[in-house]
Amino acid sequence: MDNNEVMSSNFIHAFIDEDIAEGGAYYGKKVHTRFPPEPNGYLHIGHAKAVFVDFGTAKKYNGLCNLRMDDTNPTKEDVEYVDAIKEDIKWLGFDWEDRFYYASDYFEQMYGYAVELIKKGLAYVCELSGEQMREYRGDLTTPAKSPYRDRPVQESLDLFERMRNGEFEDGKMTLRAKIDLASGNFSMRDPVLYRINHMSHHRTGDKWCIYPMYDFAHPIEDAIEGITHSLCTLEFETHRPLYDWVVDNISIDTKPRQIEFARLGINNTVMSKRKLRKLVEENYVSGWDDPRMPTICGLRRRGYTPKAIRSFTDQIGVSKVNSVVEYGFLEHCLRDDLNENAKRAMAVLDPVKLIITNYPEDKTEEFEIENHPQNPDMGTRKITFSRELYIESTDFMEEPFKKYQRLYVGNEVRIKSAYIVKCTGCKKDENGKVVEVYAEYDPETRGGNTPDGRKVRGTIHWVNARDCIDAEVRLYDNLFTVPEPEACEGDFTDYINPESLVVLNGCKLEKGLADADKADRFQFMRQGYFCVDKDSTKDNIIFNRSVSLKDSFKAKK
Ligand code: ATP
Ligand code: MG
Repeated sequence: MDNNEVMSSNFIHAFIDEDIAEGGAYYGKKVHTRFPPEPNGYLHIGHAKAVFVDFGTAKKYNGLCNLRMDDTNPTKEDVEYVDAIKEDIKWLGFDWEDRFYYASDYFEQMYGYAVELIKKGLAYVCELSGEQMREYRGDLTTPAKSPYRDRPVQESLDLFERMRNGEFEDGKMTLRAKIDLASGNFSMRDPVLYRINHMSHHRTGDKWCIYPMYDFAHPIEDAIEGITHSLCTLEFETHRPLYDWVVDNISIDTKPRQIEFARLGINNTVMSKRKLRKLVEENYVSGWDDPRMPTICGLRRRGYTPKAIRSFTDQIGVSKVNSVVEYGFLEHCLRDDLNENAKRAMAVLDPVKLIITNYPEDKTEEFEIENHPQNPDMGTRKITFSRELYIESTDFMEEPFKKYQRLYVGNEVRIKSAYIVKCTGCKKDENGKVVEVYAEYDPETRGGNTPDGRKVRGTIHWVNARDCIDAEVRLYDNLFTVPEPEACEGDFTDYINPESLVVLNGCKLEKGLADADKADRFQFMRQGYFCVDKDSTKDNIIFNRSVSLKDSFKAKK
């Protein structure tokens, strides 16, 4: 994060301020948070919010934030995901320094705390099946039933050890906390702390066949790392009493405080990792980094900047109410950044030739134009002009509609920064398609000025046919045609937008763009903001449109 960027204040900061003012458990300790992704997929824009809340809050209080892989589930997590998560967080502008951890490294300690709870009479081995447990769960007026809860401590200790040693099959036994079968909060009705699962873990291999449940593991992970404020999403709110119960009843002298905030939802996309994986695995998109994906790597490839994403997560704010943000607002934040920082350039996406019939055939002129109209620090570049140019085919009309101010026979138009030209005609092919447009230039109007002050309404962009480069340009739209694909009938993939990717070939770009760097951002005049795609090569130049110029969000406001 840039050094001068400070996260806007929110209710979490008010809680932290209270804790600091009270001294108490946090007295003398730096604010210490953590970001705990499960390494089973790539990070998406929702995670970016959590990253921003966790790292941004720590930064605001001059504190620390850990990065912890929450890998207590023995799934086939892949180093691919761990590496990608690290890369994305770094790219977003945050740093865990030397505090990178795996929750699975604490398995032995977690086991020790479970034994401690059994010894204190606060946990027991239960032999109900999952189905029975659901059946005995009770309801608001009926307490749960748990026939094994009064089992002697010694017996539970013995069984728990044998569970660890692999003597029992999956589902045969669980370790449960002994809390309150009549609690109005169902997470407190003797919740399961450990389950048997004979499955290899990507880091601990076959060392364990019992695995801790999230509600038991997470507070321990936080306490071991000395986390002061454990910031998580709203669905954990009802689990907070259990979180507190765990840290209060084990021998550990730190007491992290869990604070919940609302998840980020964005319309016209999906955000669950399972669904994103489906899009990738079933080839609806080209990969996790397909520019239409809401993943951080997808947004990066699309041309999003870390600054735009941080600004977005800051502006949507942090609250206790789940809400869905319009995709248009994310785009709005990108435009804000790129409008200020992208170099201007010209590109013709649907070209037709414009021939200046009174311009000498062998002549080429150079014009020096600024890279940014408001920022002279971004310098200038040279573009060339000659007798044959490419213009957008939509910038000429044989039969102009009312108020059309571009090229039609008899009309004058400004060729951006070069000359005023007057249209004289066109040539069509056998299908009636316009293949060449003709015009005459006025040599007195160099730079696009009219010395006699006559009005020329239209200004069009162009490139020099003699030296422009060919490129493929990819245009993107919402990946889904409906705001909430997950809430619609049928499968969410039924609502994929067939026009979410449009590939244009044979686009003509000003020649300087051949040397564009992958980190560069451009505003192509009248077209939007663009960046070089990662697949682009010298022989096959590819640009992505990051976002169009038209700001639907601003218009709506
Ligand atoms: P998914 O349901 O897509 O698998 P998850 O919540 O299981 O998501 P984790 O890897 O566990 O994914 O998430 C890491 C952190 O990011 C958690 O603290 C989680 O609360 C937070 N997070 C995940 N999705 C969002 C979201 N949409 N908005 C805000 N925070 C989120
Ligand atoms: Mg999770």
